[in-house]
Amino acid sequence: MFKVMIRGVEYTVKRATSKQLKAGCYGDCTHPAAISPTIQLIHGLRGKRLLNYTIHEAQHACLWDLDEEAVNDSAEAIAEILWKDGWRRIKPDIMDYENDRRINTNGKLNGKGKNQ
Ligand SMILES: [Zn+2]
Repeated sequence: MFKVMIRGVEYTVKRATSKQLKAGCYGDCTHPAAISPTIQLIHGLRGKRLLNYTIHEAQHACLWDLDEEAVNDSAEAIAEILWKDGWRRIKPDIMDYENDRRINTNGKLNGKGKNQ
């Protein structure tokens, strides 16, 4: 779980089980005006599918009024561009998202974050 600012709104981004999401959904994004704005992504997504659904839900947060088809089409296109350009996920257990820095597998901080 981590927090991110999206257009002036702090969202919590976290994993969810299929039972916590609407049937057949891999993710969810609450309205920016919700009490606790949240993006949820289903456990088990990996690789390009995780990239696609992350972009998809982030787009809902950024452009709430954009219709589902436009979000789907643009998220797939952006994921395709990033994937073909070589973007991949760093294992979350070695990322300190709060401070935007990488942690060695032995738990030591590695390098300076952008906030330092
Ligand atoms: Zn959607």
